[in-house]
Amino acid sequence: MSVVGIDFGTLQSKIAVARNRGIDVICNEVSNRTTPSLVSFGLKNRYLGEAAKTQEISNFKNTVGSLKRLICYSFQDSELHEVEKQYINAELIDDNGQVAVKVQYQGEQRVFTATQLVAMYFTKLKDITSAELKIPISDVVISVPGWFTDAQRRRILDAAEVAGLNCLRLINDTSAAALGYGITKTDLPEDKDKPRNVVIVDIGYSSYSVAIVSFIKGQLTVKSTAYDRHLGGRNFDHILVDHLSEIFKEKYKIDIKSNPKALFRLRTAVEKLKKVLSANAQAPINVESIMNDIDVSAIISREKFEELCQHLLDRIEGPIAQAFRESGLSLEDIHSVEVVGGSTRIPAVKERISKFFGQELKYTLNQDEAVARGSALQCAILSPVFKVREFSVQDITPYPIKITWNKIPEIPDEESELVVFQKSNNIPSTKILTFYRKESFEIEAYYSEPDKLPSSNPWIGRFSINKVTPTEKGDLSIVRVKARLNMHGILSVDNAHIVEEIIKEEKEETTNTTNVANAQNTTNAQNATNVPNAQNVPNAQNEPQPMDTDNTSSENAKPSPPVKKVKKLVKKADLPIISCHKGLEKSAITQFKEIEMQMIVSDKLVADTETQKNALEEYVYDTRSKVEAIYSDYVNPNDKENFLQLLNSTENWLYDEGEDASKSVYVEKLDQLKTYGGPIAERYREAEERPKAVQLLQES
Ligand code: ATP
Ligand code: MG
Repeated sequence: MSVVGIDFGTLQSKIAVARNRGIDVICNEVSNRTTPSLVSFGLKNRYLGEAAKTQEISNFKNTVGSLKRLICYSFQDSELHEVEKQYINAELIDDNGQVAVKVQYQGEQRVFTATQLVAMYFTKLKDITSAELKIPISDVVISVPGWFTDAQRRRILDAAEVAGLNCLRLINDTSAAALGYGITKTDLPEDKDKPRNVVIVDIGYSSYSVAIVSFIKGQLTVKSTAYDRHLGGRNFDHILVDHLSEIFKEKYKIDIKSNPKALFRLRTAVEKLKKVLSANAQAPINVESIMNDIDVSAIISREKFEELCQHLLDRIEGPIAQAFRESGLSLEDIHSVEVVGGSTRIPAVKERISKFFGQELKYTLNQDEAVARGSALQCAILSPVFKVREFSVQDITPYPIKITWNKIPEIPDEESELVVFQKSNNIPSTKILTFYRKESFEIEAYYSEPDKLPSSNPWIGRFSINKVTPTEKGDLSIVRVKARLNMHGILSVDNAHIVEEIIKEEKEETTNTTNVANAQNTTNAQNATNVPNAQNVPNAQNEPQPMDTDNTSSENAKPSPPVKKVKKLVKKADLPIISCHKGLEKSAITQFKEIEMQMIVSDKLVADTETQKNALEEYVYDTRSKVEAIYSDYVNPNDKENFLQLLNSTENWLYDEGEDASKSVYVEKLDQLKTYGGPIAERYREAEERPKAVQLLQES
């Protein structure tokens, strides 16, 4: 069984695996440690990852990047159109609210949703990993930005499922990096009161995250997080592109922005320029024949770059300041500041971070690989197949979540909503909601601060609690509903039941656990006020204790005699729940899986056909030269002539109608050639072996 961590980046992804008692970042088919997050559609097949990179210019409109951003949005989200669209070459369309692209694939127009695109890309990462590990891949941990909402997380899980991956946990990027930090440190404090507080900053290609994390031995607790969802390397590139387009307009009288391919080439060159500027005071940029056969060049200094990007650099402080404020710590409490993500290599970015905390930055973590490594470690911790030191990751949710419901006439002063999970509530965690109802009802979950969200729709899900019945006396029943923020940071409501109050005589010492707040109200449901109340269930990772252990001291209970009467809540009936959320229906996943399988089979056929074609081509060249040289004595002249003719006609055929034949035709042609060539090669081989055999006989 595999233990794999995937850092799914907007620009590029990194894969780490647990093996040989350690964590390794693995290389793809062209020996790179990062794989471009790209998919491309061709006449015959798809190109995924590195292969798609080679299609970026030649197959511009059918090559899709920024997959991680595409999967973030619903089609109506304004950020998709205002921000993301400029980074996408393919045509975006609305597929029942989901973002999809319209591309040319196998000569047809096809529509693929963002979930499918990510699934295709995950399939590629899966292939890279299984090629390296030489085993099939299933269990993985995938990292996502901490600001991902419920819907965004569900879409990633759906994509993983379509790709046949079993995602054990979606881990936040900064938490993964923090895990990598914590597990390797042998000198973490034992003491909960004096933890080591470390700031983790990740600035990548499109997004910027900060987490302040407390470490003690065997455990990390995220204290606060903050984000700028729209600050990353691509913003810096953008500024340089704008600047250079203006320079080139003046210098060469060309409008690069009017030509998408020229713009793309400038973006690529600018990224290189930016990286050189991280290490040098100035850097040149040259692009040959960028458009209208014109070569362009310029020199940019780091000083100029920083001046142009001033407004971006000014945005560095916001998230660190917010996270710091919300952590409640003082500067002296900050042990160190660790930076990861490619864009933290920009000297001016480093300077801003370092200046805020008044200390030098630390690079204990591998800037490019820390998130993948941490994800693999989390997978190892969760996986039964790999032994690793226990290290618990206590994460938090970035947005408060409220639950709403319809009021009922029996409880006129009942509220109709409650913030059940506050911002920074632990993940995972479970809350129990108590309702008083006599028939089935629905609750809905929303993010309660919609303006903070990446998406315009704060709705999370609707949960129908069914088969609710009145009590035997016809009163309102007490209904307990468990709402859970699971390991992935996703809200689920998967348990609800009716509890009944009974009076029981019990020995005094057993009656002191009071798990139920507001328990008095349960004596008379009609008088219940402000229901429901949300209770924390401690130790949420394990299932909470069944309700029938909830005991409540009776108001009338007498302290003295050894036996007293207590009100006890007993679980009566489990209630079926129907959930509706933004994840895909099972049937849609099955359908996407089938489509993905068909594409995999068709890609494989194209690849196999290519291999067979190459084999035939190679045989023609190799055998022809041998027939004219070393095989010459082992074939009679007539046969030789015929065979050479056949080899030549096969070569001609390969360049003509055989250019695009089917796999079986190439196999057939090769077999045909081998029926001639095989015996000749065999005679040659025997003749070559003979003297050796004779020699051996003489020696013995
Ligand atoms: P995200 O985390 O936003 O989803 P990602 O994980 O794909 O994106 P990273 O791989 O962390 O992003 O970083 C890529 C970015 O880092 C690119 O914009 C790249 O230009 C930038 N980058 C890499 N090296 C340097 C460097 N030496 N100087 C400046 N920028 C750099
Ligand atoms: Mg990243």
